[in-house]
Amino acid sequence: MSTIHGLLDVRCVGCGNWGTHGCAQCLHTALRAPINLTMSGVPVFALGAYRGPLRDIVRAVKFSGERALLGRLAPAVESLGARFPGAVAIPVPASRSGFVARGFHLTRRIAHRTGLRTSTALVLDDSGSQRQRRRIGRLRGRPMHVARRALRPGTRVVIVDDVITTGATVRSAIDACRLAGLTVVGAIALAATPPVGNHGDSFPNVPVRV
Ligand SMILES: [Zn+2]
Repeated sequence: MSTIHGLLDVRCVGCGNWGTHGCAQCLHTALRAPINLTMSGVPVFALGAYRGPLRDIVRAVKFSGERALLGRLAPAVESLGARFPGAVAIPVPASRSGFVARGFHLTRRIAHRTGLRTSTALVLDDSGSQRQRRRIGRLRGRPMHVARRALRPGTRVVIVDDVITTGATVRSAIDACRLAGLTVVGAIALAATPPVGNHGDSFPNVPVRV
């Protein structure tokens, strides 16, 4: 509702308080426990677990395209990027349905916030219908590859995703980069959700906090 209060007509996506999309308290809570995992032998850093205010903020960024909120996370994202000086940030490609639904590439936006040089070298394989792709995506990660001659073999790269759930997408991205001769030095995400139950592999049930 429009009132004479103007900017105060905005509510925090975390706590609902008026005045800003993401209040200082919710941001503090969202960013207080970064996560460090190892997947496919490389360090993976996320701003935190996908729950509470961080989940609210990421959902607002992801589904409503709240650029200002992503901007509030930017210093934290840049600090993750600073762990990999000289590396090239490669966003995981958006599924076509996700891009059509949202109209923007969230992972590209995140990659640009890392402060690293970015490359959209990773592209989705053409894998049939959306339903097929979704099924494959859920089970094994999105099939993808590195575009020919996008980056020199040996280039040090960091994978960038929005939310890591099972880790299948990030593993697919790492595999595709390695297949193209790139050196994957790490991965970065806004948030990570450890899977329910023990999936074995390298995604520990108890995240190591850094
Ligand atoms: Zn709040």
